[in-house]
Amino acid sequence: MIPVTKTFLPPITEYQSHLEKVWEKQWLTNRGPLLLELEEKLKNHLDISNITITNNGTIPLQIALKLLGKGGEIITTPFSYVATTAAIVWENCIPVFVDIHPEYLTIDETKIEAAITPKTTCILATHVFGNPCNIEAIEAIAKKHNLKVIYDAAHCFGVNYHNQSVFNYGDVSTCSFHATKLFHTGEGGAMICADSQLAHQLFYSHNFGHNGPLDFFGLGVNGKISELQAAMGLAVFPHMSHILSERKKVVDYYNEYLNFAKLKTIKIRDNTEWNYSYYPIIFESEEVLLKVQQELNKEGVLPRRYFYPSLNTIGYAKGKSMPISEAITSKVLCLPLYVGLTNDDLNKIVTTITKNT
Ligand SMILES: *Cc1c(COP(=O)(O)O)cnc(C)c1O
Repeated sequence: MIPVTKTFLPPITEYQSHLEKVWEKQWLTNRGPLLLELEEKLKNHLDISNITITNNGTIPLQIALKLLGKGGEIITTPFSYVATTAAIVWENCIPVFVDIHPEYLTIDETKIEAAITPKTTCILATHVFGNPCNIEAIEAIAKKHNLKVIYDAAHCFGVNYHNQSVFNYGDVSTCSFHATKLFHTGEGGAMICADSQLAHQLFYSHNFGHNGPLDFFGLGVNGKISELQAAMGLAVFPHMSHILSERKKVVDYYNEYLNFAKLKTIKIRDNTEWNYSYYPIIFESEEVLLKVQQELNKEGVLPRRYFYPSLNTIGYAKGKSMPISEAITSKVLCLPLYVGLTNDDLNKIVTTITKNT
């Protein structure tokens, strides 16, 4: 069977060597030494000024929206994982969808201003499949209308934009360290914020609002991660350059051998060092997609319909129609992409697609 993704597992002895420290110190959570070590490593590696690692990649969206959304209207993308929209509704804010660019698949910045009202507080956009939004344009709009910018950068570990981590842009960027993402801790995530005052608010919000054992800075929730998960992060981290280069080989294969007369893939924005996080292909129609999916399944290949459906069509989101996103979601399929795919696997995938498009 060839799934869409496979979690990278480090050698178990490497994981165990980190776990031994947990047993030695008998310290399982509440920002123990392994978590602090992981935060330092990521900060240096990504060259960012602040990071708070959290228990998943959804809670940072909720915390950022709690602090910056203030129950207002949030301009957002209909083409993302459901967590992006769900976090908005969960925080009692109102999602206001803006359609996507048909090639970059990120929010169409030229349509944002028309969606702004006096109730708008934030823009929450996704760097989908690790492809940066038009950050410069979004920043200019936010400045002009006095809005905050949150980037759902769940897919972006290892992405650089203009020679720095894409996490450096926006008021807050969030990431997911879920087992299906490039860098993972099993479950986990992070919030990254350059402004130290806001970073402090985000930080205490993820730990019940604590200011020491007896006092509170403000309202908080439990967004902490355990030492057991930090140990997984420390064991995966040294393998990141291997993970990236192996994934690049798969992407290079697809780029070379797929027949793009009948297909399209995502267009990566200029000045981006991409992380090969997903390989979406866009067919001519949903009919072709379903046929190809069926034929791949027969061969034991299980691609996934990322992302489907368009988030504006979900009942609780109550969004206006988004023609481009609805068209793309009906005909986009993500192909298998992980460390360990063989050329035989890839050949089978490409041949089956070419035969049926
Ligand atoms: C994975 C993902 C999330 C949620 O992350 P979790 O760690 O699973 O909570 C949010 N947004 C996007 C775009 C994602 O792909």
